Amino acid sequence: MTGHWARWLLSLARVSVGAGRGPARLTILRHHRVYADAERPLYRLGVSESVLDRQLALLAEVGLAPVTVGEGLARLASGRPGHVVALTFDDGYLDNATRALPALARHGARATFYLTAGLMESRRAPWWDVLAHVLERARAPRVEGLAWAGAAPLPLGGDAARRAALAALLPRFRVPPPVRDARLAELAISLGVAEPAPCELATWEQAAAFPRAGMEVGGHTLTHPHLTTLDAEDQRLEIGGSVALVRERLGVPCPGFAYPGGDHDEVTVAMARESGVAHAVTTLAGDNRAGAPAWTLHRRGLNEGACLDPAGRFSRRLALAEVDGAFDRLRGHDSGVAA
Ligand SMILES: [Zn+2]
Repeated sequence: MTGHWARWLLSLARVSVGAGRGPARLTILRHHRVYADAERPLYRLGVSESVLDRQLALLAEVGLAPVTVGEGLARLASGRPGHVVALTFDDGYLDNATRALPALARHGARATFYLTAGLMESRRAPWWDVLAHVLERARAPRVEGLAWAGAAPLPLGGDAARRAALAALLPRFRVPPPVRDARLAELAISLGVAEPAPCELATWEQAAAFPRAGMEVGGHTLTHPHLTTLDAEDQRLEIGGSVALVRERLGVPCPGFAYPGGDHDEVTVAMARESGVAHAVTTLAGDNRAGAPAWTLHRRGLNEGACLDPAGRFSRRLALAEVDGAFDRLRGHDSGVAA
């Protein structure tokens, strides 16, 4: 039985969620990009505009219209019982400003936006966008002859093959940034791709729309490294530097931080605290209860595929079961795709 079918069957017996029910708990949901419905990117890291709209409408209907992480924590600290949901968007893509903000406004919802400050500043594409760009434009028929890419050649004929190659290569980039960048450069040369990947992150001017709409902003490092591959000083620069840059460029408080890919250890957490943020989120699945450690908050992905029934239609029951954490054990500790 596939995971999809297992989730569908489990959702039939799911517990109910809704505001005011049960003890105090904060569910933090995670999104990345918001795509136009017709978009079919090679690397899909997000939700379509219409699925996001359905998710927000449903949450509002059951009394769980999302708030920011800071507001969710304040609610937990107040001691009031019941369920509260916070929504987050990672990375700082322009589509968050053009598509997520209007959807949030339509449904009376709020969110926290974590910004990859250094890449926004330098206008460089995140590493996974560079990887997808190179595979999409490859002139060579396959990836081969690169020691780090594995022994078996990866064919690139057609979208499905390119997606499979992307999935096979993604784990090879969980390495220190200089190694990561060298591999990307080597891959681009071997596949005959010379043009740089466009940066689809928001500019600072565009990102100013987040606080202007009353949303919370947070840091997400300067260049989106796997933080635990860095020494303490580089972690300090990446974390503290991003928080300082968000504050400086947007002229607003930057109370939050999100660990890229959820990657963190004790040093990372210490550096997040040192940067002056009040809270930080991981990708560890689960809810947050009163007294939860504020710098290792749990967070649950709400991917669009997870809200679709076996026939591909938006399922209210699956979406609510996802929000409720009915599948945390099925998926293991980490809550799905992370960047
Ligand atoms: Zn990220």
